[in-house]
Amino acid sequence: MNDKNIARGNALIAEYRNKIGDVCLNYCDGKCCNHGNIVCENLKVLNIMTNNNSKKYIADGTVTHMQGSFHNFNFEKHTCLNFMKDGKCKIYNNVDKPKSCNQYPIYLRYRTIFISSFCPAQQTKFFDPMILELEDLGFKVVIQ
Ligand code: SF4
Ligand code: SF4
Repeated sequence: MNDKNIARGNALIAEYRNKIGDVCLNYCDGKCCNHGNIVCENLKVLNIMTNNNSKKYIADGTVTHMQGSFHNFNFEKHTCLNFMKDGKCKIYNNVDKPKSCNQYPIYLRYRTIFISSFCPAQQTKFFDPMILELEDLGFKVVIQ
């Protein structure tokens, strides 16, 4: 795959991450922030996500250590602490918001694109035009 195709693929993913906001607010009510899980890449991010209560959440099993500085914050017991009643994210503009929040539900790993099957936008084929173009560009797309 050439640099031009890689750049187009990245631009396409960014475009769809931007466009999905309407689906999130009007049709989904934040399923990923209510029932999903988020990877926190370092302690600063973990403290922001737990309102400085990381020890408490680690002790009750809500947060589990993954590898290095990475921790998984599971929303099974309760919604994300930053999820607001109007469906918006309290820390939306915080630069230290977990990277996975900014990327979800599309993750690019080398030349493979993973899309979460858990996301209603994927279930309603919102990403289909993007997937077709990405495959034409030479990316592998995995729905998981
Ligand atoms: S699950 Fe998908 S559609 Fe729902 S809020 Fe998350 S990204 Fe948006
Ligand atoms: S930090 Fe915001 S975007 Fe991330 S899971 Fe919580 S409410 Fe959702």
